[in-house]
Amino acid sequence: MVLNELKRPLELRDVAKPKPGKGQLLVRVSTCAVCRTDLHVVDGELPDPKLPLILGHQIVGRVEEIGEVSDGPQQPDSRVAKAAPIFAIGDRVGIPWLGWTDGDCTYCRSGRENLCDNARFTGYTLDGGYAEFAVADAGYCFHLPERYSDVEVAPLLCAGLIGYRSYRKTGSARRLGLYGFGNAAHLIAQIAIYEGRELYAFTRTGDKATQRAAKELGAVWAGGSDELPPEKLDAAIIFASVGALVPAALRALAKGGVVVCGGIHMTDIPSFPYVDLWEERVITSVANLTRRDGDEFFEIAPRVPVRTYTETFALEQANTALDQFRAGKLGATAVLTISE
Ligand SMILES: [Zn+2]
Ligand SMILES: [Zn+2]
Repeated sequence: MVLNELKRPLELRDVAKPKPGKGQLLVRVSTCAVCRTDLHVVDGELPDPKLPLILGHQIVGRVEEIGEVSDGPQQPDSRVAKAAPIFAIGDRVGIPWLGWTDGDCTYCRSGRENLCDNARFTGYTLDGGYAEFAVADAGYCFHLPERYSDVEVAPLLCAGLIGYRSYRKTGSARRLGLYGFGNAAHLIAQIAIYEGRELYAFTRTGDKATQRAAKELGAVWAGGSDELPPEKLDAAIIFASVGALVPAALRALAKGGVVVCGGIHMTDIPSFPYVDLWEERVITSVANLTRRDGDEFFEIAPRVPVRTYTETFALEQANTALDQFRAGKLGATAVLTISE
């Protein structure tokens, strides 16, 4: 399913089977979950996507062919060095958003490859998984926990990983607020509760169904994002792409609290009085993921165990999945089933 032009439906067509280069895997795609970022790309809200482009950065598949073994540069800083995972033909593999980094810029050398100056991203600047085959650099792929099926594990590859990075930015916060209780919040809530945090869920005003679902999951409080929680929060993560939630979340914070913006795109943030930020409150954002985030997340997820809720679509129905996502009509994470 190819995006030829922004703001246009994807086109079903045959493309040449990609060839794995040095250090790359050719993967027969089994499933690929749909992410809000895919919508941002289609809608032209992210700069300079590859065009034409195959979307999709939560890819689960099997290794079909292995390119020549890479003799490329290793991470030069031993603190961030990570042995590339070894894959064999037939292995199950997960391909995430972070597709490649140079290993050599200031960011890569300081353990922040998520900020790499020359990073390439799956389903954005590299072709992704809305297809029967994908190639990916082996060093950025993951082995996936066995307890999950190909459909179940796909949403963990972005909503899970980047949600987890957002969650780690909240440090040891005891009272944690989640604004926008969609896919990522749902996954991270399970880890937060597992780790003994008090969870406060903020939904669209009047969305009683989601508030009920959050409470069933273990939230101590659930309400609208226009409400203040009964206790001040130590941290809040905003998963919705609504800038007005930033000052709203700030007002809910205790002194020294942090607001983490977990999305790649957000509408403008309205101005707010300085007193809402004062007393060492912090606003930060999360960009992409590091491979270390992935290793940590895939270690903890099966222990919780984090459960995903999915709704499957055939590859040919990718436009339907995107349209339903945009319209807020999905009840769970959309997963395209391709060769599963
Ligand atoms: Zn770099
Ligand atoms: Zn994503």
